[in-house]
Amino acid sequence: MIAAITAAKTGASVLVFETNSDLGHKILATGNGKCNFTNSDINAKAYHDYNYDFFESIYCQFDHKKTIEFFKQLGVWPDAKGDLYYPRNMEASSIRNSLVNELNRLNVDVIFERKIKDITYDEKDSIFIIDNNIKNREAVICKAIIIATGGNVSKIPGSNGDGFYYASKLGHNIIQPNPALSKIILKDNKLKSASGVRCKCKIDTFINNKLKESHNGELQITTEGISGIVVFQSSREIAKAINRKLDNYLVLDFIPEYSKIDLKNIIEDKINLGFDLSDVLKGLLPNKLSDVFLKELNYYNKNISNNEELSLFLENVISILKEYKVIPSSVDKDIAQVTTGGVDVTELDCNTLESKIMPGIYFAGEVVDVDGICGGYNLQWAWSSGYVAGLHAAKSIGFND
Ligand SMILES: Cc1cc2nc3c(=O)[nH]c(=O)nc-3n(C[C@H](O)[C@H](O)[C@H](O)COP(=O)(O)OP(=O)(O)OC[C@H]3O[C@@H](n4cnc5c(N)ncnc54)[C@H](O)[C@@H]3O)c2cc1C
Repeated sequence: MIAAITAAKTGASVLVFETNSDLGHKILATGNGKCNFTNSDINAKAYHDYNYDFFESIYCQFDHKKTIEFFKQLGVWPDAKGDLYYPRNMEASSIRNSLVNELNRLNVDVIFERKIKDITYDEKDSIFIIDNNIKNREAVICKAIIIATGGNVSKIPGSNGDGFYYASKLGHNIIQPNPALSKIILKDNKLKSASGVRCKCKIDTFINNKLKESHNGELQITTEGISGIVVFQSSREIAKAINRKLDNYLVLDFIPEYSKIDLKNIIEDKINLGFDLSDVLKGLLPNKLSDVFLKELNYYNKNISNNEELSLFLENVISILKEYKVIPSSVDKDIAQVTTGGVDVTELDCNTLESKIMPGIYFAGEVVDVDGICGGYNLQWAWSSGYVAGLHAAKSIGFND
């Protein structure tokens, strides 16, 4: 939508194809219906791996300040919760509706419930022919195309990965798409009787026995596995590893604020004062979770008769609290917030988002191999890249802002 608005503002004639019966359907689900639409601490480090420079050169053309100003001009008042920006009324629909209204104001035509079948290039006339899959095979002719079809995760309609198909048919390399920002399903979920518990946690991700990354935040335990922001942030590397069949596991630290030694001293002191271990754990963790751990430690059947045995037992307690190993079986694709992978950025012009393989075709949003962490980063990428693609597609056919 932002690409279409930007192009239409230059005076170019714009036609939007949308498979759904409405525009911006996914926006309504963002930020739990509140739409965390940007972040005042946007930096390339919040995006992944190898595309830092690429991201920067697009982002600087339409940064978070321009985004906030853009939405203000469309009548959406922003409100900041720390670095995270939401519409002031906390309703995602106001972001979506502001874009739809602007498209209407600019008289942009939208063809709903229509899937493009094919895109071909006519070299003789330098035009693209879009086969829009209607019975009499009427084709649309245009001079530039922006592909902004999103990714292939999430159950939200319109997330089918069509853009990957079009891009690869046009000759583009597609970096393996995977789900990210989602819950992780565990093999043999021993935590399941604590399902519903939310607690602080640090998660270390190990791939091929090497520490890949660490995240801190709130963890939620579910019957199938683990969820919550800290898990969402960890899910990307796990999905990639599972897809590549690499050995992977997570180590959960349920008391990240204390080192192993400090925690051992704290627990030992309490026990020496006559406290029962179960009460000490329940003072540190939610009840249901302490029960899981006490059961795993076989605590109620243990007979600890001397200090040496106590010390050995406490080693196990500390390791369960701070080094709880779980093995993922999958990352839930249906509730994933973003697709990692997509159109290879090395095949796109880093100033314009024009394809180097098929000039005249532009890419924007999640279809491109750029994805960020939770916190408004992915929508910011959609706005920045949409603006850049819209502007440069229009420029390429003779329209300037
Ligand atoms: C539950 C949820 C919560 C999220 N919360 C946040 C958040 O708070 N903050 C944040 O920054 N990000 C959030 N995200 C991520 C964010 O929504 C996406 O990164 C962003 O919407 C990507 O924008 P896009 O335009 O590239 O793709 P999309 O929003 O997926 O839009 C693509 C559009 O193209 C249409 N389409 C697809 N194929 C075709 C075709 N063949 N022909 C015609 N039309 C087609 C689709 O119907 C859709 O309307 C969330 C995602 C989800 C699923």
